[in-house]
Amino acid sequence: MTTPAIELKGLRKTYAGSKGDAPKEALKGIDLTIPRGSIFGLLGPNGAGKSTLINIMAGLVTKSAGTVKIWGFDQDVNPRQSRASIGVMPQELNLDPYFTPRGALDVQAGLYGVPRSERRSDEILAMVGLEDKAEAYARSLSGGMRRRLLLAKALVHNPHILVLDEPTAGVDIELRQMLWTNVRKLNEQGMTIILTTHYLEEAEEMCDEIAIINHGELVVRDRTENLLSTIDAKTLVVTTESAVPAALSLPKGAKLEKRGAGVLAITYARQETSPDDVLSALRAGGVRISDVATEQARLEDVFLNLTRSRAAA
Ligand code: ADP
Repeated sequence: MTTPAIELKGLRKTYAGSKGDAPKEALKGIDLTIPRGSIFGLLGPNGAGKSTLINIMAGLVTKSAGTVKIWGFDQDVNPRQSRASIGVMPQELNLDPYFTPRGALDVQAGLYGVPRSERRSDEILAMVGLEDKAEAYARSLSGGMRRRLLLAKALVHNPHILVLDEPTAGVDIELRQMLWTNVRKLNEQGMTIILTTHYLEEAEEMCDEIAIINHGELVVRDRTENLLSTIDAKTLVVTTESAVPAALSLPKGAKLEKRGAGVLAITYARQETSPDDVLSALRAGGVRISDVATEQARLEDVFLNLTRSRAAA
């Protein structure tokens, strides 16, 4: 088996409480393996510990316990190689206002010891659409441009792994598309991508695999399609030209929702009922069916199920 991109074992982080607050256990023993070449989604509600996890991987926050291997390099044994293997696009727009994009990339390249002959500033600036702004002061850049620059900075040392922390929170459609196009391109070129996002539809569309964390614990980790198939509820959307009888006798547990003129959505449990049972019941009730569609389970349902049941436990 090839070495994973990321291997975390028993990872813990406790923040010391400030001003008399109790210490905060942000990560409670995370075991997580992320394979090379994937687009991996790290999801969880606010305060779950996602940023802490990412910042530990990036070497920006010190862990309290556990092991972190980046591209096979143990952070405690080979800190330099492990840091060189990962690039992070952070959430905060923390840029030095007096640097130009080109200057910022040069400083970053210097920090990572990238030799001048191997620097690719022009190529990276073009990729993120900042070639026209290469010499503009960062303080004159719009929020969207700053984000582009943060992505550019994360790529300067050509890392194996790119981590994006909430890359599309509050950005416009154009920037979002630019980001996803670039992420897909980099992934096709072999880069492993790890991202956190609040937009579950985005995770569903982009990520091959997903881990959900909640209250500092790993709740689930699986391929996106497997997670979606764990949702038992299924919805049939039926279009009818006939009037819908007031009382329809549906199979046990099935629920009917009227969605505008002539459109019915029937949600049922796949384990209890077949689509045929649902359609037969409608026909028996006098509904003439002119069209039928099924609705896919959404990652949002998986997420709510998993984070809710834990909250209640
Ligand atoms: P997420 O990124 O999933 O929103 P975080 O990793 O930012 O979660 O936070 C996890 C928990 O740790 C939260 O309860 C947060 O308040 C706490 N926390 C994060 N950073 C610090 C810090 N520097 N000092 C103290 N507590 C922190």
